[in-house]
This record gives sequence, C-alpha cells and structure tokens, in this order.
Amino acid sequence: MKESNKDRAIKVAIEYTDKAITFKSKVGACIYSNDNLYPGFNVENKIHKGYHAEEMAIINSIQDRADPDELLGIVISYEFDDHKVYPACASCRQYLWEYTNPELLITVVDKKGNIEYESKLKYLYPMPYPERRWYLEYWRKEHGQ
Ligand SMILES: [Zn+2]
Repeated sequence: MKESNKDRAIKVAIEYTDKAITFKSKVGACIYSNDNLYPGFNVENKIHKGYHAEEMAIINSIQDRADPDELLGIVISYEFDDHKVYPACASCRQYLWEYTNPELLITVVDKKGNIEYESKLKYLYPMPYPERRWYLEYWRKEHGQ
C-alpha cells in the first residue's frame, strides 16, 4: 500500500525532533499537503527569541507559497521532560490560524509515531482572532484568483 503524506509527515516530524537546536526541549513538526511536506524544528538562542518547530514549518510553507487551503495537517513530535502532550502553544495556534486553514488536522505523536492527540484546528482554536482569513485573501490576490 502507498504511504500517505501524513505517514511521511509523521516520520519527518520525528526525524526533525533530533535536529532541534536547543538547550532543553526538542520539537519537530511537519505540515503536509497532498503534494508536499514542510518540516521544521525548534531553534533556541541566548536572546530568548527562539523559533518553534511549528513556526518553522509554517514559514517553510509560506516560502513555497503553498495554498493555505491545500494544507491538510501538521504533525508535531515532542521530546519534553514532563511527557505532557502539547498540541501547539498559544502563539503557534495563532500562526496556524493565520497561515493555514480551520480544517487543518493537528496530530501529536510520540517518538515511536503513536498518535497522542489529534483534532482539527477549528476545534483546538474555536474563536480565533481575527475572524477574517486575511492571508488566504492575500494569497489569492497574489495568485490572481
Ligand atoms: Zn509554539
């Protein structure tokens, strides 16, 4: 059977967890569409302006000018000391809302690929700000739609 992009994204998110540049927690993420994978890992520094894995994955998709409505999901893999499940921090939920779509499937996996949490962005972040999807309008304008 053909491996789905979600299955690939699970593997890539786990792989990217190990690439994290960090003093503490390691996080890997991978946004996927039918055609592409947009991975990311967290990057920390001493000026406390680090980048979350989800953020890096979103930036990766923006660089490729991916259609926000074609993004199917994001897989997040954590290596935290407390072993709690974090389906994206508040800031990343906001970025996901602005640059992806409400139907985006958010999947949190452990290092073995077992799913620990799964839900759509619209349920995880039911009252987003702003309500209007400005980036989708921006993207459509840029692509003459
Ligand atoms: Zn975050």
